Amino acid sequence: MCDNHFYSGTSLLSRFLPFLRIFCLISLPLCVAEHANLPRNMIENSMFEEEPDVVDLAKDSTAFPTFPALDPDEVAYEPRSSRLLVRGLGENDMDEDEEDCESSARLLGMSFMNRSSAHRSSSSPYARQAPPRSCSRPSARTMVVCVLFLVIVASMTMVLYFLPGCTFTKAGCRKPNKTTPIQPVYPNSTNGELFPWAELRLPYSIHPISYDLTLNPDLDDTTFTGQTVINMTVLHNTNRIVLHGANLNITKATFKLDDGEAKEVTVLEYKPRQQLAVKFSEDLKAGQYCVLTLDYSANLSHTYDGFYNSSYTDKDGNKRVLAATQFEPLYARKAFPCFDEPSFKATFLIKINRKQGYMTLSNMPKAKSTPLPNGLVQDEFEKTSVKMSTYLVAFIVSNFTPISRNISNTLVSVYSVPEKKEHTDYALDTASKLLEFYNSFFEIEYPLKKLDLVAIPDFLAGAMENWGLITFRETTLLVGKESSQLEKQVVASVIAHELAHQWFGNLVTMRWWNDLWLNEGFATYMQYMSLQTVLPQLDTVSPHICLIYFPLHIFKMVKVVCFSMCSCSTVIHVCLQGNLFLSVRFRAMDKDALNSSHAVSTEVNTSEQVEEMFDSVSYEKGASILLMLNTSLPGDQQFRKGIIEYLKQFSGANTDTNDLWNSLTEVEVSTHHQNVSEMMNSWTSQKGFPLVTVSRNGDEVNFTQEHFLLTSENATHSSSLWNIPVTYVNDSCSLAPECRQVFNLKTKSGTLKIPESVKWLKLNYRNTGFYIVHYGNEGWTALIDALSKNVSVLTHEDRASLVHNIFALSRFGRVSFQQVLNLLNYIPGETESAPVTEALLQLNRIYRLLDKRQESGLVARMKSYILSHFGSLMKSQTWGEEKSVSKQELRSALLGMACSLKEENCTQQAKLLFKQYVDSNGTSRIPGDLQHVVFSVAAQSDEGWTTLLNMHAHATYDAEKRKMLQALASTEDTRRLVWVLKTSLKGDIIQTQELPLVISTVCNGFAGYLFAWDFIQENWDRLIEKFPVGSFAIQTIIKSATSQFSTQAHLNQVCFFFF
Ligand SMILES: [Zn+2]
Repeated sequence: MCDNHFYSGTSLLSRFLPFLRIFCLISLPLCVAEHANLPRNMIENSMFEEEPDVVDLAKDSTAFPTFPALDPDEVAYEPRSSRLLVRGLGENDMDEDEEDCESSARLLGMSFMNRSSAHRSSSSPYARQAPPRSCSRPSARTMVVCVLFLVIVASMTMVLYFLPGCTFTKAGCRKPNKTTPIQPVYPNSTNGELFPWAELRLPYSIHPISYDLTLNPDLDDTTFTGQTVINMTVLHNTNRIVLHGANLNITKATFKLDDGEAKEVTVLEYKPRQQLAVKFSEDLKAGQYCVLTLDYSANLSHTYDGFYNSSYTDKDGNKRVLAATQFEPLYARKAFPCFDEPSFKATFLIKINRKQGYMTLSNMPKAKSTPLPNGLVQDEFEKTSVKMSTYLVAFIVSNFTPISRNISNTLVSVYSVPEKKEHTDYALDTASKLLEFYNSFFEIEYPLKKLDLVAIPDFLAGAMENWGLITFRETTLLVGKESSQLEKQVVASVIAHELAHQWFGNLVTMRWWNDLWLNEGFATYMQYMSLQTVLPQLDTVSPHICLIYFPLHIFKMVKVVCFSMCSCSTVIHVCLQGNLFLSVRFRAMDKDALNSSHAVSTEVNTSEQVEEMFDSVSYEKGASILLMLNTSLPGDQQFRKGIIEYLKQFSGANTDTNDLWNSLTEVEVSTHHQNVSEMMNSWTSQKGFPLVTVSRNGDEVNFTQEHFLLTSENATHSSSLWNIPVTYVNDSCSLAPECRQVFNLKTKSGTLKIPESVKWLKLNYRNTGFYIVHYGNEGWTALIDALSKNVSVLTHEDRASLVHNIFALSRFGRVSFQQVLNLLNYIPGETESAPVTEALLQLNRIYRLLDKRQESGLVARMKSYILSHFGSLMKSQTWGEEKSVSKQELRSALLGMACSLKEENCTQQAKLLFKQYVDSNGTSRIPGDLQHVVFSVAAQSDEGWTTLLNMHAHATYDAEKRKMLQALASTEDTRRLVWVLKTSLKGDIIQTQELPLVISTVCNGFAGYLFAWDFIQENWDRLIEKFPVGSFAIQTIIKSATSQFSTQAHLNQVCFFFF
């Protein structure tokens, strides 16, 4: 799935948001006592830091011994933390005892989830059985309950550790004691019978082989009926079948064993975990086959997940309805009963009944259409030729129209609403090129006969990689001929990401959501790599370009635009470094520097935690460490061969992180054999990243590493160590890849000899490593001197890296802000986009914070500083059409900043362009990269805002429409801001899918950030109806609002609301 590109947008201002959060974080005392109750991302988003407490102890895999086995299912899939609940306290007991919202459930980290799931009682596994009450501050009674609970937990910990579950050997190894099984506490089904399963994860005793699925959606009534026939095999003797189903009304169920008769059976349901079960009086035996047939009815979903209904208004003003699906991660169960975990792969045969005049799509090509007696038509799709995880199943009922092209053995089509068909050409072209590229690069042909890319008018995520039927927002798939290169870059980037998933994710799938990064980190990495190679004109490259030939056989005679200094043998390395990917790596570090971050591969035990995995750690950090690995391996071959080996070995199967590292380690292509597992485990199994500090004494250079952890003074000290491939260049050779040298730092410190004549070292060449560098006073001074004499002494990625690192070190307290300003003194001589945008982003973040604290004197000085250092660059920007993506990025950032500071030259020019645009009645265009700036200036006047609102209603280009919406939400008129917020939630004039963007834009400005916070609080229940708790959308909403705060009073408010 592609979430992250979407709320970030391409404008400079929207990129600033994450940084404000970090500044707030270190500016504030912490809400120490209560912070840990939020899920991981919520903690970060609310500016709090995690410290070990009851929750952490319960989750910590080392805090409790392994319990004795009851049966293979319960051992294999039992989350550790839930053991404490189920076996220790008893899950039902907890619910019954829960009379105060500050009670034991809260101490187990559930109060936030309970609050957030109050309106999901039928669907969330964490919904309370009783209606929630509003939380108050802890009472004396609560304190007593807390203390008692802590004592109980501590006692249990000691008892469990020392006595029942294990026997100690001399080495401290604990053997399971099989003689004292503890019975699980089974919950009650909806009909009062005992439900035969007590875990979130399904038992593994029954495995689905194939599904036959028939659906009858009624788009007018927004309901559907269905029949699901599941063919299964029995892997272990068992007396139960447990699968998923959410909000499905089961009307009939039959069961057939081997060649026996089909018999009606009772289906039990346990709603909190969205599970269904059938119990048997006698065991089903390993090796037997069975068939479960379930008839059911349900409502089409009114949110953005499951099988959901949607509508749009066509060009004649008529409302057109459609139904589409979004199943990742946990929503296939809302459309049909299924084993809804990624490792339960099966084949699917899908039939959909539809009205005349509609068309249907699914993963496979249509096999036949049959008229039904009731006047409907049944479309039957070919049985899937591959085994798929349930989250990749998809179907759509709509009136969309396609354009198509044959690529190798695959029919590639792009679908849209009929009136936007002319906007699909670019997507078809791009998808075709990328499909050819991936077919060759992975040396595995795309396995399906067709590949559809569908633009859905109402879609929450950026895109979704359903196998053979990729769904997109209109903005991420449709562009016109006149769209800017930056807009095309967004479309190409998302297509590249989703196509990469057809291999990474669809063909080879992570076993469980804890390793989501294997899907998302790889797809993110491949999107940048493939774009730079297939569509180099879209990415930002140095103006000193050359044409070279790619060394691998698949790219023979393919011209690749690359940096002048890159050699053929290293083309794949250096071509990965477009500015987009570089800024993405900086942002990933900003999140990962927080104590509330998590390991790339981490434990996931709840539905909310599954949702939370869709964050920058899985996506961007995952991609960043793959880049670091690729650049640290000898030559290009080991990485590519390793991933080909991985894909071939595990084709159709499920994997975990170790499988990937083993594949990459086994492919030995050079004598400099690198143990990939040894190196990469340190990057995936622990959160955060290192700070490398350099100190020099003559010819001796000392490197030390420590955890770069932005936290409060009293936070726990981290002893994490990383296996860091430290790269460095020096003053005599600093640009070409051949200059790069490597020092493997595996311990706390290491020493390197260099010639005394070396004046300076620059570490982390081109910022391909995921670490920050502190050069010490002398080191920074030497680098600043070198840059002030000649900007081109370092690559532009290295210059951007210095800017990013020195701001980070300033926040970390290692350098003074004066030193930051000393480095920025070289900026007037800078012309490259990456360093300028990074510096502007960092400065703007501070400026916005000062503005919200109403530090008017400092705000004025800050404005003056920015204009004095960037003024000449701002003035030198043009306002006409610009072809270079790099220049578009640069001027978009500079002019965006100038106009937001109300610099008169900028605002006058923007107003002029807007007037010409309006007066021309559509014949004059504003360059795509400047639309955000121009519209935002226009929206500050009454007349401009009203005009924009009218234009927004009739805009055909979706990217343009979104920029108009951002402008509307950037007004300083508070009444209008409130209207935009309310209208976005309502969803008629402004689509609700845009609400996270609207809130983040409103929060960015001074006028509306407090209104936005009020709006979130007042409408919290409605928000979490629309956007699942833990989802990227809700993360964006909370982060946008709370990152604007920097006072104790606001911190108290946030604490009070969430706890
Ligand atoms: Zn993805």
